[in-house]
Amino acid sequence: MPQNSNADNAPPAASAPKVNSDLKSVDDPRSVHQRAILIDMHADTVQRMIDEGTDINARLADGHLDAPRMKEGGLDAQFFSIWVEPQYFGVGGKSAIERADKQIAAVRALAEQHPETWELATTAADVRRIAAAGRLAALMGLEGGYAIDERLENVEKYYRLGVRYLSPAWSVSLSWAGSSGDEVGQTRGLNEFGRAVVAEMNRLGIMVDVSHVSDQTFWDIIETSTKPVIATHSGVRSIVNVPRNLTDDQLRALARTGGLCAVVFYPRFIEPGWQEAQRKVDAEIAPLVAEASRKATGTPAQKKLARDRVREREYAKRLPPVSVARVVDHIDYIVRLVGVDHVGVGSDFDGIQAVPHDLSTAAEFPNLTTELLRRGYTETDIHKILGGNMLRVMEAVERK
Ligand SMILES: [Zn+2]
Repeated sequence: MPQNSNADNAPPAASAPKVNSDLKSVDDPRSVHQRAILIDMHADTVQRMIDEGTDINARLADGHLDAPRMKEGGLDAQFFSIWVEPQYFGVGGKSAIERADKQIAAVRALAEQHPETWELATTAADVRRIAAAGRLAALMGLEGGYAIDERLENVEKYYRLGVRYLSPAWSVSLSWAGSSGDEVGQTRGLNEFGRAVVAEMNRLGIMVDVSHVSDQTFWDIIETSTKPVIATHSGVRSIVNVPRNLTDDQLRALARTGGLCAVVFYPRFIEPGWQEAQRKVDAEIAPLVAEASRKATGTPAQKKLARDRVREREYAKRLPPVSVARVVDHIDYIVRLVGVDHVGVGSDFDGIQAVPHDLSTAAEFPNLTTELLRRGYTETDIHKILGGNMLRVMEAVERK
């Protein structure tokens, strides 16, 4: 049984590797990193593009991701989460559909307005071609099936708009799929319609994402899907015991489908004890958060952004720092359990209010490669982890 032993060998935060590290004992990390096709499976950046009017083609003073920092970090391809928050937009119906469609339009507009930098990608071949040309590939995944509005024909609608993965549920369960984030999800799996959605995704070539689903839904997906299944932004439950993470049995099941788990960067899911500490801090900062929400003007989504800003600032001050080494602990665990072919990366940048201190924006992705090299991974294996495995899964799911 693989153990989470590397954590003990990790350097203290103060001496953690920096970009352009001068490590002498291994291949030059920067060039190993640059030769890879790096695909991040999950970022929530589109939310701020539409709620704040943020132009991610320019360097931003805040947030985690924009074109200049992607280039600095050697990040070739980004799956943008098309996320409908049920609290504000419903678990179906007109406003859920509009919210999803608006985000898709924003990603498409980004590529259309900046063709010298961005291109919309829908296949593995697109990603390879765009990366070889030194441009950035924008891809889309639907986080939660709320915009499907319980109509099977909408799965094809989103495929045609360019969506290439879909997580049946986000943190709120649907009639047809249970979530890991609420009470009903604890016993809910896929119903007949849910199975039909998965079959339709298989038929079209949309990857099934299990990152937010309940355990029962996970196993129903494994039973139903004829194509590789992925988790786009999750961790290992044996290291941090939260429902958002995957058990060893689940990781084995994903591997058997030919799929993978892309490891998330959120300390809450990767650092033991962090979630408990976070809860204490949440109680302490509740008045500050409420005040920011009250002062913020605009839509509920904009008020949420204001609350998240305060959380981000206070978490950074009050919670212990987490390093890239911890992300690699999860990668390492999965590799030891099911092999190097079944792991990837899914930052959840711009969707999380805390980040590893040395993997805090897209520009710091090279630190991940440095740490993998330090742990003895070969260039071949590193390239699989950073994107090669995802390209293989995409090709398998695209195949009719
Ligand atoms: Zn998520």
